[in-house]
Amino acid sequence: MTTAIYPGSFDPLTNGHLDIVERCVRLFDRVVIAILTNSQKTPLFSADERKAIVREVLTPQFPRVEIEIEVFHGLLVDYAQRKNAQVIVRGIRAVTDYEYELQMALMNRRLAPAIETVFMMPAEHYSYLSSRLVKEISGHGGSVSGLVPDLVEKRLKQKFETQS
Ligand code: ADP
Repeated sequence: MTTAIYPGSFDPLTNGHLDIVERCVRLFDRVVIAILTNSQKTPLFSADERKAIVREVLTPQFPRVEIEIEVFHGLLVDYAQRKNAQVIVRGIRAVTDYEYELQMALMNRRLAPAIETVFMMPAEHYSYLSSRLVKEISGHGGSVSGLVPDLVEKRLKQKFETQS
């Protein structure tokens, strides 16, 4: 039984994240989506809001797969060990992701040699997509349709309406 952890901010979930989740469920028996709370960035959505969104989108999409969605803080490798995960999954979009991801993967290997980091590439049309851009576009009233699930589009509109 292979368990993979897919960690990230997911602030908010995008179709790029979903593309990676789809690839994960094809490869691993159990997938844990781990939502970070100790990111240095101030999130737009609270950890609980992000978790609720991920759950609402993923549950109907992958009814027969074992997917867990959890909020976590602290050291990723400690969390991975607690979840009995053998694999950490990260998405790589462009070379700009590579340097940071390589540094993280090698540091995590030093901390926990038995855990392997696996990098996955999304479909090309998601390779320029990020949560940061989605927030920027949506915050200025632009359409993010096709870039995020419909529910996320709705939640973004609500969030920016209550903020203005
Ligand atoms: P983090 O703050 O950890 O980078 P993100 O939510 O931005 O959190 O991303 C979580 C993971 O998903 C990272 O591995 C990131 O590279 C990956 N990711 C984000 N957007 C995409 C995308 N469009 N395609 C593929 N992977 C992505």
